[in-house]
Amino acid sequence: MSLANFDFDLIVIGAGYGGFDAAKHAAENGLKVAIVESREMGGTCVNRGCVPSKALLAASGKVRELADAKHLLQFGIHSAPVRFERQKIADHANNLVATVRENLTRTLKRAGVEILHGVGRLEGPQKVGIREKSGVDKIFSSKDIIIATGSDPFVPPGITTDGRTVFTSDEAISLEWLPRWIAIIGSGYIGLEFADVYTALGCEVTMIEALDTVMPTFDPDITKIARRKLIDSRDIDARAGVLASKILPGCPVKIELSDVKTRDFVEELEVDAVLVATGRVPMSNDLNLTSIGIETNRGYLPIDDQMRVLLNSKPFPNLWAVGDVTGKLMLAHTAAAQGTIAVDNILGKSRKIDYRSIPAATFTHPEISSVGLSEVAAKELASQQGFDLGVVRSYFKANSKALSELEGDGLMKLLFRKDNGEVLGAHIFGLHAADLIQEVANAVSRRQNVIELAAEVHTHPTLSEVIEVAYKQAMQQINVSPSS
Ligand SMILES: Cc1cc2nc3c(=O)[nH]c(=O)nc-3n(C[C@H](O)[C@H](O)[C@H](O)COP(=O)(O)OP(=O)(O)OC[C@H]3O[C@@H](n4cnc5c(N)ncnc54)[C@H](O)[C@@H]3O)c2cc1C
Repeated sequence: MSLANFDFDLIVIGAGYGGFDAAKHAAENGLKVAIVESREMGGTCVNRGCVPSKALLAASGKVRELADAKHLLQFGIHSAPVRFERQKIADHANNLVATVRENLTRTLKRAGVEILHGVGRLEGPQKVGIREKSGVDKIFSSKDIIIATGSDPFVPPGITTDGRTVFTSDEAISLEWLPRWIAIIGSGYIGLEFADVYTALGCEVTMIEALDTVMPTFDPDITKIARRKLIDSRDIDARAGVLASKILPGCPVKIELSDVKTRDFVEELEVDAVLVATGRVPMSNDLNLTSIGIETNRGYLPIDDQMRVLLNSKPFPNLWAVGDVTGKLMLAHTAAAQGTIAVDNILGKSRKIDYRSIPAATFTHPEISSVGLSEVAAKELASQQGFDLGVVRSYFKANSKALSELEGDGLMKLLFRKDNGEVLGAHIFGLHAADLIQEVANAVSRRQNVIELAAEVHTHPTLSEVIEVAYKQAMQQINVSPSS
């Protein structure tokens, strides 16, 4: 399948999850593939994101559980004071990162992918330039190019980081010390997960959110119940509607808070450390996109649903982009799915992505998850298309498995079309919500309706019955037969 007049069939720039899946899939399908990486293999997810953060959450979650004497006493268990070693928890995360990175690199090599170290850029159509650390510059031709350069933490103006007292998730992940009092700027999923880790390990947290409410990106009903459990019942002082307009590293760290609307000074806080978790920005500056005239949208690469990069709304030949750099549902599994789809299209198997069926999860204790449309988006769709929106709620406190675990705080909200029963979305807070959402994601992906879903038998007693109850409640509201 290789073309003799090109150095490679495919060059992938960036070896994060998106680049990895694309390169592996292409090589396994007989293409001659190279992947270019300027930092560590594995990108954000493996080195600074999903993998180490979930390791920290796993360890700190055990500390939280064992330290919760009141909870354990309800099972008749008398707990001893819990001791933990911060360095060993950090080591657990670091060791996992090393293992996953090694496995990923080995997998690529085994598939026949050539790994090129350096900063990649475009050098015109079907040409990639690579600047190695030594300064050596090389140019390769490739029939197709996939850009998978990912994202970096966003630090708002006015905030100075030093990596030690004021830092982003890139540094927080190494858990080098445990501040007595830490401010977390931002209450999205990264801020919430780190608040979970820090409070479990005994730190006091002040959470600062510029928007009107904390957890602004989550479903409002889920936020209400999740906030009670994840914020209000913990050593967290959450403030919304205030801007951390100035942060200076030091000992103590000084934070100037101002009113979001008026920009008037509100208060100065002095804390031991600050984690800036205010979102992420695309990594596209080094790509020399002007060499082919591509314009980004605030750094994000415009793509269509087949992952083709767009120039003036039209696909640019043989150029593809996947992952965080495209700004779509910035999650590792989105990047991986996009990577595979891009390659399938390169191979001539036309495929499009279905963003609606991609689930998202926050790995707090308990977890939050969602898939499909928000209630606001579903209402909009309902009024555009002229159908009634159905909304049902299913509670963990009515679920035997959740009760046996003494984890009855939880809610699932299901959104569906009342005319044909199609599942439009779901939002879950509760024990193992991240695992539970997959069942609904599969249903959304197949555009299944609640009548057929309600007929499916769920294991008893399991948390999956929370979903079964939701489907059965929803079915009561539909006026069509299963075959229609
Ligand atoms: C703290 C944290 C926790 C997270 N937890 C989760 C989670 O639980 N689940 C989940 O799904 N997602 C999670 N994410 C998000 C996830 O990490 C990203 O969505 C995912 O890594 C995106 O993959 P990517 O391949 O697009 O980019 P990246 O993983 O960012 O990889 C891009 C790679 O390209 C390289 N690169 C950039 N420019 C160049 C260049 N010019 N030349 C060569 N190489 C270049 C970079 O060095 C990097 O290695 C988390 C993120 C963070 C920060």
